[in-house]
Amino acid sequence: MKPFEYKAVNSVEEACSVLAEYGSDARILAGGTDLLIEFRKQNVRTPKVVIDISFIKEIHSIESPNGTIIIRPLVTHSEIVNSKVVQQYASLLTSAALVIGSPQIRNRGTVGGNIMNAATCADTVPPLIALGAKVTLESKAGSRQLDLSDLFIKPYQTKAKHEEILTEIHFTKLPPNAKSSFIKLGRRNALAISRLSVAAILTQDKNGKITDARIVPGAALPVWKRVTEAEKILIGEKPSIELFTAAGQKVSEVLISHTGRRWSTEYKEPVIAVLVRRALEQCTLTPNPSPKLGEGSSDLSELGEG
Ligand SMILES: Cc1cc2nc3c(=O)[nH]c(=O)nc-3n(C[C@H](O)[C@H](O)[C@H](O)COP(=O)(O)OP(=O)(O)OC[C@H]3O[C@@H](n4cnc5c(N)ncnc54)[C@H](O)[C@@H]3O)c2cc1C
Repeated sequence: MKPFEYKAVNSVEEACSVLAEYGSDARILAGGTDLLIEFRKQNVRTPKVVIDISFIKEIHSIESPNGTIIIRPLVTHSEIVNSKVVQQYASLLTSAALVIGSPQIRNRGTVGGNIMNAATCADTVPPLIALGAKVTLESKAGSRQLDLSDLFIKPYQTKAKHEEILTEIHFTKLPPNAKSSFIKLGRRNALAISRLSVAAILTQDKNGKITDARIVPGAALPVWKRVTEAEKILIGEKPSIELFTAAGQKVSEVLISHTGRRWSTEYKEPVIAVLVRRALEQCTLTPNPSPKLGEGSSDLSELGEG
């Protein structure tokens, strides 16, 4: 790691001023659990200045005004796990935060860093896209809002400009008749990044018919997207294993149509279909199972990989 200047800032305004001054020579530091590892890699350009935003109180909160949830970027994964409002109205996000890294990583790593690092295995992103989250980016020139699903260009690259900072993530609370789930498949049940994951939300009417469906696979496509082709199969139908299996197969087909056949296809093709089916099954359990450590992860041995 080459030497760099370190600047701790206390407000978004101050952060934006330093970003405007240094442009592409600056990097933002939140929890540092991705950034410092990146700096240690060979051939990585070390910035002139690292701006530590971790002291900015105005971007470290979870609020729930008027049927929405606003999560500010410095909220840690542990804080998401412990948030009653997230547990009640967006429990798939609780499930995802709960299976990130280890307690130390969850205490240090932030949701903002998870999004802005843009690794395809980032666990909070599929649930947030399924929830229809929007993000706010701020700079000295003003602020702009984007759908989270539009933020990403490719792995490790977002549409944020060098002088912009993420200041807000917000989405509408799930209604009581919407059930959600998040399943992560890693090489182990703990301290493992996602090889594949699925975030799902199903809304049913009083007769049990599915009125809305959201399926977002993680670590599967170059950028995250809802698989509307599979969601359409579910709308207007009543839950059944056959229906969920068909939706899972469709997700698998769509995945391959985007990525083409490669060395990992033989494994991913059947496994993503099973994960989608399981995630949808979990959405129909009453009550929605409350997330517990380990339950968000899926056992590889069941899926034919030890
Ligand atoms: C041992 C280990 C295990 C891990 N396990 C998992 C896992 O299971 N699942 C998972 O998803 N991740 C995992 N991670 C990755 C990491 O912990 C998360 O991505 C974390 O949320 C990153 O947050 P951070 O605050 O540490 O980000 P930082 O490292 O501080 O920043 C990451 C990137 O985001 C940018 N950034 C941060 N905040 C902002 C902002 N507000 N505005 C603009 N840009 C910003 C930084 O400039 C940097 O490019 C793991 C990491 C380690 C070291």
